[in-house]
Amino acid sequence: MAKKTRSAKSRPASGTARKAAMPRAGGRPAKGTVKRTVKGAPAASQGPRKSAATAVARVGAGSAAKVKAPPKRVSADIAAVQAAVPPLKPAEVEEMFRRFQAANPEPKGELHYTNPYTLLVAVVLSAQATDAGVNKATPALFAAADTPAKMVALGEDRVRDLIRTIGLYRTKAKNVVALSRLLIEKHGGKIPRDRATLETLPGVGRKTANVVLNIAFGEPTIAVDTHLFRLGNRTGLATGRTPLAVELKLEAAIPKAYLLHAHHWLILHGRYVCLARRPLCERCIIADVCHWPGKTTLAA
Ligand code: SF4
Repeated sequence: MAKKTRSAKSRPASGTARKAAMPRAGGRPAKGTVKRTVKGAPAASQGPRKSAATAVARVGAGSAAKVKAPPKRVSADIAAVQAAVPPLKPAEVEEMFRRFQAANPEPKGELHYTNPYTLLVAVVLSAQATDAGVNKATPALFAAADTPAKMVALGEDRVRDLIRTIGLYRTKAKNVVALSRLLIEKHGGKIPRDRATLETLPGVGRKTANVVLNIAFGEPTIAVDTHLFRLGNRTGLATGRTPLAVELKLEAAIPKAYLLHAHHWLILHGRYVCLARRPLCERCIIADVCHWPGKTTLAA
C-alpha cells in the first residue's frame, strides 16, 4: 500500500495535470490549483540556485536551446543539501515535534515482523525496497523460519525462492542465512543490543542497526534513510551532506522527550507528505515551521 500511495502521489504531473495548474490566459492560476513559491529564500540560498543554473548551462553549451532551467524544487533541494537553509531554532523544533506527537502519539513502522529476529531480517530485506514489497514476501518466509536456527536449516536456495519478489534478493538471501549462522555461532541465537556488534552481521549497516535498536530495544536511535535525509535538509531541522552528519545533528537537535519516536514521525512524514518530487506543503502540519524555500502553497 505504501508503494502505491507513494508512486501515485510522487509521480510528476501529467500533461493534463500540468495544464490544469498553469495560469489562465489572464495570468491568474485556476482556483484550487497549487503553485510553487520561493518564499523567504535566504540570501545564502541564491548561490546554489545560481550554481545549479550555471551547471545546467555548462552541460548545455552548444545546445542551449534544448536545455531547460532546473525547476525551483530542484534548486531548493540543492540549497538545502548545501546547508543554505537556515537551521530551525530550538523553539521551532519543539513545536514541530509537539505537532507530530499530537497528530500521532504512538507512531509505528510499517514493516511486519513477529520477534526481534524477524524484525532484523525484515529490515535487511528492506534495503532499496519498499516496506510494502517486503511485507508481501515475509509472511511465507517467517512461517517457514522465524528463528536463526530455522533460517539456517531452510537454506539459501529456499530463502532466495521465498524472497525473489524483493530487489537484490540473491544477495539478501545470502546475507540472511549468513547473519543467522553468525547469530547462532557468536551470540547464542540472540540479537545483540549494541550498534557496533549489529554492524558486524552481513547485510547490516548503521541504518539497519539503528532501526533494530529503536524498535526492538526502545533505544532513542535515529535511522537516517532517504526520507529523513531529505526532511532534515529541507526543513532546516538537521542539514548535512551525509546520512551520518544528518543523524548526529538530529540527535543533537531533537528534545530528549521526542527522540524515541522521532525516527517514525519523520519517516512517515517524508513518505506521505514531504514527498521527494511533489511535497504536499499545502497539507503539511509543520509548513509554517519549515524553512524550505521551495514550499508549495495553494493559489489564492
Ligand atoms: S512544508 Fe512540509 S511538505 Fe513542504 S517541504 Fe516543508 S516539511 Fe516538506
